[in-house]
Amino acid sequence: MKFDELRLIPPLLDAVHASGYETPTPIQSRVIPLVLKRKDVLACAQTGTGKTAAFALPILQQLAGQVPQNRNMGGRNQPRKNQPRKIRSLVLAPTRELAQQISDSFSTYGRNLGLKHTAVFGGVNKNPQSRTLRGGVDILVATPGRLLDHMSEGTISLDSIEILVLDEADRMLDMGFMPDIRRILKQIPKNRQTLFLSATMPAPIRELANEILSDPVAVEVARVSSPAESVEHLAYHVEKASKRSLLSNLLTHIAYSRALVFTRTKHGADKVVRHLMHGKISAAAIHGNKSQNARTRALDDFKSGKVGVLVATDIAARGLDVDGVSHVINFDLTDEPETYIHRIGRTGRAGASGVAMSFISSEEHDNLRGIQRLLGAKMQLASDMPGYKAPTEPVVLQGEERSGGGGKGKPRRSNAAPKQAPYFPKKKGTRRPPKPGRNRSGAKKRSVQTAAR
Ligand code: AMP
Repeated sequence: MKFDELRLIPPLLDAVHASGYETPTPIQSRVIPLVLKRKDVLACAQTGTGKTAAFALPILQQLAGQVPQNRNMGGRNQPRKNQPRKIRSLVLAPTRELAQQISDSFSTYGRNLGLKHTAVFGGVNKNPQSRTLRGGVDILVATPGRLLDHMSEGTISLDSIEILVLDEADRMLDMGFMPDIRRILKQIPKNRQTLFLSATMPAPIRELANEILSDPVAVEVARVSSPAESVEHLAYHVEKASKRSLLSNLLTHIAYSRALVFTRTKHGADKVVRHLMHGKISAAAIHGNKSQNARTRALDDFKSGKVGVLVATDIAARGLDVDGVSHVINFDLTDEPETYIHRIGRTGRAGASGVAMSFISSEEHDNLRGIQRLLGAKMQLASDMPGYKAPTEPVVLQGEERSGGGGKGKPRRSNAAPKQAPYFPKKKGTRRPPKPGRNRSGAKKRSVQTAAR
């Protein structure tokens, strides 16, 4: 299918083509026609599937193509003189970064239309947001807490909402936003279109969906248990106390473009960053205790390549859309197997290859088993790979500046061959295939569980 077959208006098609998209993703080809037909949609889809454009494009088309329903205004997209625009579409998202990303997508796709949009989220000064809101917007992207703040101050009215989107509903549940969402829902007209997106559908999410959707069409694309085929899964058995030196060791030797490291706690993320910086590996942390400015800077620096390693907790990293993440490193294994899939979904995007490395301490074997069950037997023991040697303390490579150096150095590009990789497998294509029934080191095949130390 082509975008042209989706009955999108020329200004949107132009924007889509200018973004370099050639064909709609599966969720786009299924959801866009439904939204244009004004159906409620219950979509089970994770980030990386193109779900933002799946709702943003038809919303823009609907709002651009008609006089606002709840108002008596002249002109197509333009409110009558001196009459501020009213919010006609509200998108609720769990994290500040995701809200900003969605807002950026509305800018990209809506650049040829005269509609106004903005994002409001916590952690930054409220006053500029209030000023923009008073000026009037057609589309508002918001995190629930900050939206309620604005509502209580009277800077926002939701009584003209025609289309409501709940994005990453399951994450909003996990983050404790359900009471906030219910308060917000009470203020939105019942006569509206609702789009409900969630990566998983636990019972409370289904209940909420049943309550707020009217005769919805269910759409399911790439299930959460199906990670990108192009991602290689590697397991490193390492005791907790040695994880940091394993990480700096790996990052010293492997060729990575961008590495995203996941820790269980905010404190743990900070400790990892300090350790890496001490070893002159440029790194930044992103988690809920950081100010919004620090989070934005960390993300921008990671996107621009100024820092090669972003250390994140799950809450902050969910939904991040960064191109060119070559490695996802599970410094701490997650308790929830599905979170593993979300984490590694940051790499191997749009068919690119990626590597997911997991550091597994003796306390984390149960977690590994859960992940293995979800994945199938796809995780490969790093120690089974050719050339593997147990890691030692980081080695300073002679005559070579390592990634970073307090932010000055650039991360090593993934197309540059690693100078030395004693415990990291050679890049795909340089390995000899193992003999049948044998693993790559020539030993008989064994499962990760039986190999666990
Ligand atoms: P999302 O799932 O909305 O976070 O989108 C993931 C990434 O896919 C974003 O970087 C989008 O710019 C990109 N994307 C969305 N739709 C398409 C498409 N039809 N073709 C190629 N890339 C796309």
